[in-house]
Amino acid sequence: MDSSKPHLRNYQMFPGHATFYLKGHFQSAGKRSYSLLVFAAIAVPAGLFFGFTAPWIWNNVSQSLPIVFSYILLLCVMSLVRSAGSDPGILPRNIHIETSDTEKREAGPLNIAPLSVTVNCRQYDEDRPLYLPINYCTVCRIWRPARAIHCRDCDSCIDFMDHHCVWLNNCIGARNYRYFFCFILSLSLLAYFMATLCFLHVLTWRHRKLSTTIAAVRFAPVSFALAIYGVLGSIYPTALALYHIFLMSRGENTREFVCIDQ
Ligand SMILES: [Zn+2]
Ligand SMILES: [Zn+2]
Repeated sequence: MDSSKPHLRNYQMFPGHATFYLKGHFQSAGKRSYSLLVFAAIAVPAGLFFGFTAPWIWNNVSQSLPIVFSYILLLCVMSLVRSAGSDPGILPRNIHIETSDTEKREAGPLNIAPLSVTVNCRQYDEDRPLYLPINYCTVCRIWRPARAIHCRDCDSCIDFMDHHCVWLNNCIGARNYRYFFCFILSLSLLAYFMATLCFLHVLTWRHRKLSTTIAAVRFAPVSFALAIYGVLGSIYPTALALYHIFLMSRGENTREFVCIDQ
């Protein structure tokens, strides 16, 4: 054994498109890193909330409300980091690379006649089982399990691949689906809660001062803007969360629901 060669960790020899940070504890895959934009879209309004709305709510309404908001924010950011930066379920590649032309030709016919297995998916007609193919991946050189697919952005086979999320710059698969669902659910809750507290700021001030709504908006313009942002910002994550609850009730993932013929 050559001791002069530096010992490389697995992530340093990873053949796919994922880029690793923090000694392999954080990964990102894809061409454009929108995940920083998503983080900014949460962090900037949250910062404004703590600067302009939370102190008034803390002193005039209830101290528990900003604490609950902080908890939901923490849950949302942590699940964002986990879903965007953790392994989505990458299946290891076959390390026995073929060396001869004969071996290269062997992979061809395997892909022409795929096997198929029955999986426990609920379909429209429960009497009809769903057959999913087990294909040979010529890039990873493995027979990938049913419900796994090769992601072109990650350049890896992903177990139970739901979709490649451009916003999180990562695939959503077997190992990070729970974090992804927690993220969209907590993001919806965060947007609702922020909008509610910001409207509470404006309307409570108006009620206590016996003033007009225009005067209340002039008193707390940032809270009013955050309330509107919260209402508009809740639409997309809420729709996505409801869609995934629907998929979970059917035992399917996004790719299966969209791509597989019924
Ligand atoms: Zn593959
Ligand atoms: Zn991917």
